Amino acid sequence: MTTKARMPNGKDIPILIAGGGPVGLALAGDLGWRGIECLLVEQSDGAILQPRMDLVGIRTMEFCRRWGLVEAVEAAPYPRDLPQDNVYVTSLAGYELGRERMPTLAAATPPPMSPQRRERCPQNLFDPILRDFAAAQPGVALRYGARLVGFMQDGDGVTAEVESMTGGARERIRAAYLVGCDGGRSLVRETLGIGMVGTAALTYTTNVIFRCAGLVGLHDKGRAYRFIIIGPEGTWSTIVAINGTDQWRFSIIGGSEQRDYTTEEIRALIHRAVGRDFDYEILTVMPWVRRELVAERYGEGRVLMAGDAVHMLSPTGAFGMNTGIQDAVDLAWKLAAVLQGWGGAHLLASYDAERRPVGHRNVREAAANFRRMTSPRPGPLLLEPTPQGDAFREQLGAAFSEIMRHEWYTLGVHLGYRYADSPICWSDGTQAPPDAPNAYVQSAAPGSRAPHVWLAPGRSTLDLFGKGFALLGFGADPADVEAVLTAARAGGVPVSFTAIDHTEAAALYECKLALVRPDGHVAWRGDHAPDDPLAVIDRIRGAARVS
Ligand SMILES: Cc1cc2nc3c(=O)[nH]c(=O)nc-3n(C[C@H](O)[C@H](O)[C@H](O)COP(=O)(O)OP(=O)(O)OC[C@H]3O[C@@H](n4cnc5c(N)ncnc54)[C@H](O)[C@@H]3O)c2cc1C
Repeated sequence: MTTKARMPNGKDIPILIAGGGPVGLALAGDLGWRGIECLLVEQSDGAILQPRMDLVGIRTMEFCRRWGLVEAVEAAPYPRDLPQDNVYVTSLAGYELGRERMPTLAAATPPPMSPQRRERCPQNLFDPILRDFAAAQPGVALRYGARLVGFMQDGDGVTAEVESMTGGARERIRAAYLVGCDGGRSLVRETLGIGMVGTAALTYTTNVIFRCAGLVGLHDKGRAYRFIIIGPEGTWSTIVAINGTDQWRFSIIGGSEQRDYTTEEIRALIHRAVGRDFDYEILTVMPWVRRELVAERYGEGRVLMAGDAVHMLSPTGAFGMNTGIQDAVDLAWKLAAVLQGWGGAHLLASYDAERRPVGHRNVREAAANFRRMTSPRPGPLLLEPTPQGDAFREQLGAAFSEIMRHEWYTLGVHLGYRYADSPICWSDGTQAPPDAPNAYVQSAAPGSRAPHVWLAPGRSTLDLFGKGFALLGFGADPADVEAVLTAARAGGVPVSFTAIDHTEAAALYECKLALVRPDGHVAWRGDHAPDDPLAVIDRIRGAARVS
């Protein structure tokens, strides 16, 4: 059942999404999964010429679990036997300074606080999974080769102009809401006149994808996911196993000055990074700018934005897409609630209030990772084939390995974001554990991601969350349960109840009743029904103004 029947008169479609990158596709899929009709327009044909993201974070994998996509991600043709090691070298054939051993995808297991583990699934494999998911939802239409060229909003809708990339025909589309998932150069953001704050250019970097089936045989470092290459001047490039077999992404990190490289220069730099001459084929060259930026606002009126349109991160940490997909999941249920009539007048405003601070947090952490990665200044001793050189390399490698662990172990970044100050969460006065990038302690303090516990083999608490609110009872009085459910029904809020008889879960949730939102964050918890259950329900559905 889709929401077309609920459309106010004169609207073509409830939601128009501009941009079919991973964030737009996730938003379209989640909206469709919630029974909301939407149209996504994407200017390209959807082909990924140069995959950027390849690390699907653990929280994104939890969403994939909800959407039924875990098997597809695990079945993607990225080799599951490739050690995911990060290796620090002077060149592939040169000195090894240090190494963070990481398990293969096949050997990796989920941490105790999640039913999932992070996955390596490059964008050219992951985007099609999201696209198929979105396309399979009855209310979702995906239109490739169609570009948003302008829009106007008024009190009850948005009129958008969409141009065909083949032939240039223009069409007007009327929507209740427009969401710009149109990436870093967002036309939507520009049209709204919303600026970005932060550092516009940390580096001008150049990515080169090259093909070489026999690269592993040209050096003694073995199979690994990533090589970070450090010269006397510092960290200057990386080589990443982009498809895990014969394609490699060579990144010339660059500096704050823009620089174009000739093919000869690129070849000389590849030669330097590998440490010897060899045969390979350059497939693509993509210059890009490493930024540290967050939008001043995540939307205006009926026009909202998500993903790179509102935050641009250094890829160090692999937070970009994952942050954007969290945006999409936060926004989708709120749009659905408003269109279905139970979302209050202040619900959509909570999107910016909840997600923009997370954008700042993750952008900051990604930039800090970048600064750590480029912090060494070794000097000429680095390459000296002497005992002093050996001792220097050992010391540098140990120190660098230590600081790089910040980037490799980031459960706190991926799972520990919370909406404690959200206008639609009801604080119980408790403090969640400190928000630390590298450590994550599960907490059911309102605003936090609701904790995972295995309730039975293969059945996580997370499997209870998704389409509506979920009320969890840990030995609660039936009268208290009934009071909350009655108030929710009075507010039109879709809610399910699950009684949980599980000591570990009860201890983690630290309450007898917890109300979990459709995105899997705790909205309210307590040992009894609230004194005024309707006031709580009105707060969490955004019907009450909170100053
Ligand atoms: C080298 C590198 C490695 C990275 N690795 C990771 C990683 O491992 N994990 C991670 O989470 N992130 C990673 N990222 C970041 C990640 O790639 C981005 O954050 C992510 O692609 C953003 O998704 P998006 O959908 O918001 O934007 P985009 O992927 O930029 O998609 C926007 C889409 O909108 C379309 N579009 C633009 N304007 C219009 C218009 N007017 N009308 C219609 N369509 C339009 C574009 O064609 C595009 O398809 C990496 C980035 C880089 C550069």
